[in-house]
Parts: sequence; structure tokens; C-alpha cells
Amino acid sequence: MSATIIKGTEVAQLLRHELKEEVNELKEIGLTPHLKVILVGEDPASISYVTGKEKAAKEVGISSEVIRLPENTTEASLLKKIHELNADEKVHGILVQLPLPEHIDEQLVIEAISPNKDVDGFHPINIGRMMTNKQTFLPCTPYGIIEMLKSKQIELIGKHAVVIGRSNIVGKPMGQLLLNEDATVTYCHSKTKNMKEITRQADILIVAVGIAEFIDASYVKEGAVVIDVGVNRTEKGLVGDVLFDDVKEVASYITPVPKGVGPMTITMLLVNTVQATKGLHKRAR
Ligand code: NAP
Repeated sequence: MSATIIKGTEVAQLLRHELKEEVNELKEIGLTPHLKVILVGEDPASISYVTGKEKAAKEVGISSEVIRLPENTTEASLLKKIHELNADEKVHGILVQLPLPEHIDEQLVIEAISPNKDVDGFHPINIGRMMTNKQTFLPCTPYGIIEMLKSKQIELIGKHAVVIGRSNIVGKPMGQLLLNEDATVTYCHSKTKNMKEITRQADILIVAVGIAEFIDASYVKEGAVVIDVGVNRTEKGLVGDVLFDDVKEVASYITPVPKGVGPMTITMLLVNTVQATKGLHKRAR
């Protein structure tokens, strides 16, 4: 049996089509969603991510502007810029592309963004809302993965979901969102012992580690759903954290890299920007 491939590009296209209609309706009442993206420095991967976000925003009619700041930007001037954008009523969403240069405190920057404009969903207030299962901006990558699973009607209730990775932007919120969907969740990380014994119990296996082709078929239960978050630049091009050709022979569903989780991450940023424009996230208060 070979797994069904969940193509992120296809799920993303459907969502973006719906979003475009929503954006048009907003424009008819005089509201154009506006996203500001701040990019500090010249990191090639960050430049490519930001370019992708801007292009996708334009495609659905969201107005977006990238503010490019030099590598030597001070923390104080970055915070000042964020405060200006927080106060600007025409700006609905603010995103600061991570990682930031080492001399800037990333957490301070995340916490400076107004929770009402935090379309990345990284502000502690929004993380708290997510933890308590309230309406909020959800972190884009795990949010996109939930949407991909739902697009294939994959049952989550009572399923054992194993998340490898516990970063603040992917692993941790991924586990929380799966818990919010009534899955039973286990986290694995670099200190986990006998990881294979745990991953082989997974009905749903999410891999967010950042090591090229780290997970082969021996880690996967027959029929499991495998979501590969990893993006690793290697000599043979972009590869995920999962050895795709091997794992697809045992999994029931699998996501490819590229064209898997990546396009969904960008799409959920657009969803969050439209949500910010509508003020829907404020319902949680
Ligand atoms: P990260 O912050 O580096 O976190 C990696 C996680 O993997 C950590 O929790 C680490 O454990 C764990 N880990 C490392 N080695 C391990 C091992 N041998 N066994 C088990 N766990 C191990 O990375 P991230 O930001 O979460 O990103 C993960 C990957 O996803 C990267 O390839 C990144 O490029 C990609 N990514 C893709 C998208 C997308 O949209 N497609 C979005 C974001 C990230 P410890 O906590 O113990 O150190």
C-alpha cells in the first residue's frame, strides 16, 4: 500500500480562493486588509519566506508591505517601529520575520506587537488564548496542519498524536492544537529515550525536528498519518525530516516537501490577517 499524498498546495489553493472572496467583501465596505512585514538583515531564507508571503497576500487582494531594516538595526529602533505600527489604524497585521540578529531580544519583540495585530500568533496572550481553546490567532504552521488533516476528514478524536519537536513556533503549539481537537498527545524531543517505541504507537505523527530525512519507515506504524514539517536545504535540494519514499510505503497519508506544509503556513497567515481586519479574534475577551 502506498500512502495518499496530502498536497498542501491544493488545500492552500482552495482556502485562498475562499479568502479572496472574503477580502472582496471587506473591500466593498471600505476595509482593505493590510499586513506589514518587518525583515531585519539579509538572511537569504528569510528573504525568500518574506517574498513568498508578500506574493501570496497580493494574490488574495491583501495589501502588504515589507519594511526592510539593516542588520545593524538597534533593538530600540525596531521596538519604536512596532509601536508606530501598533498605533496605525490602517495596519491590521504585523509580522516580524524570525530569526532576528543576535543583538535583538526576540521575545521582547514578540511581546511588543499588539496581541490584536499578532498574525503569527506568537504573543503570550494569544498563546494563552490558544491553550484555553478560545478564539485567537493560531500559530500558522500548526494551524495549517490541522486544516490539512481536516481537508482529508482525518479523525483526530481519541487518536494518539505524537509530535517530534517542541519549539515555541511549531512543536508546542502543534501538540496543543491536537489536544484541543481531542487527540491524545505525546511530545518527543532531543532528550526523549526510546523514541522509536513511542513514534510506532502514533496514529498521527508530526515531525518538526530540522534534520534531513531523519524519520524512516522503522519509526512509523502501518497506516499512520505522517506530517513532515521539516525544511532542509541539502545537496539534492529541499528535503523534509521524513524519508519520503520509504515512509510512504507504510503510512496511510503523508505530506511531501516541498509543496506540503509550507504553502499552508503562508495561507494561515493570510487567514489570520483577514481575521485581524474583521476583529474576530477579540471575541475571546
Ligand atoms: P527548532 O526550534 O530547531 O526545534 C527542533 C526540535 O527538534 C527541538 O524541540 C529539538 O529538541 C528537536 N530535536 C532535535 N534533534 C532531535 C532528535 N535527534 N530527536 C528528537 N528530537 C530532536 O526547529 P523548528 O523551528 O521547530 O522547525 C523544525 C523544522 O521545521 C525545521 O526544518 C524548520 O525549517 C521547519 N519549519 C517549517 C515550516 C513550514 O512552514 N514548512 C515552518 C516552521 C519550521 P530540544 O527541544 O530537546 O532541543
